[in-house]
Amino acid sequence: MFLKVALPDNHPLRMNYEEFYQAVVNQQAALEARRLAHKTPKLFPALLVRYAQVRVSLYFQQQTASSLQVGVESFMDMFTKMALSQAWEPDMPAEILKILAPPPPAAVVTGTTPAAGGSTNTRTNARTTPPAGTAPTTRAPPAPAAGAAAAGANNRMLQNDHPNAAFAPYKALGLKIKTILDRTGREPLPKAADGTTDMCLSFHVKHFCSSGCGRAVDHVTHTTEQDATLLAWCATNYVSS
Ligand SMILES: [Zn+2]
Repeated sequence: MFLKVALPDNHPLRMNYEEFYQAVVNQQAALEARRLAHKTPKLFPALLVRYAQVRVSLYFQQQTASSLQVGVESFMDMFTKMALSQAWEPDMPAEILKILAPPPPAAVVTGTTPAAGGSTNTRTNARTTPPAGTAPTTRAPPAPAAGAAAAGANNRMLQNDHPNAAFAPYKALGLKIKTILDRTGREPLPKAADGTTDMCLSFHVKHFCSSGCGRAVDHVTHTTEQDATLLAWCATNYVSS
């Protein structure tokens, strides 16, 4: 994590952050209950992350503006406020809310033309001559053909162009996806939209994957609910051992 690199072991900000992080881990069951009762359960995990993030950046702002050693407030007041039913939720930037509540993934179709017949020769005279045999010209076959071509042929590197910032703490752990997936006793991954394929950790946590990935069906922008489910899974399973 960034703080581990930037700050010495005994720096109060780092100690406060680690105390907070441990408390979140230790109180997972209680937090899950709070999440379900929360007015925006889908936003809840992101709010927790944001809470710590706001604290950290406030510290750096204050410390940058001051030539004296700035005191660090404990992060733990969040739990106190929760226990007292006080408002603790930080403001979320509009961009984040947009990422967390993306438009329905209907218009995601990419214009990938399936490389017909492989990469043999370039056809220059395609023009408007309809291929003999196919009399009623229909729309180009969409998803299946493109998907098959992508999976079969070259393994292109894919970037998640709409990454959800709520996964940043997990990405920052720098763990290998294989390490996470090979771990015995981990919970099964949440399913992608097709209901059978596991969600793609690489694409959603690390923000990149390859076109030949077996979970490519999940290489789409998640709904708020899907991300919340994956975040909940990460909270228990995407951890340093
Ligand atoms: Zn993938």
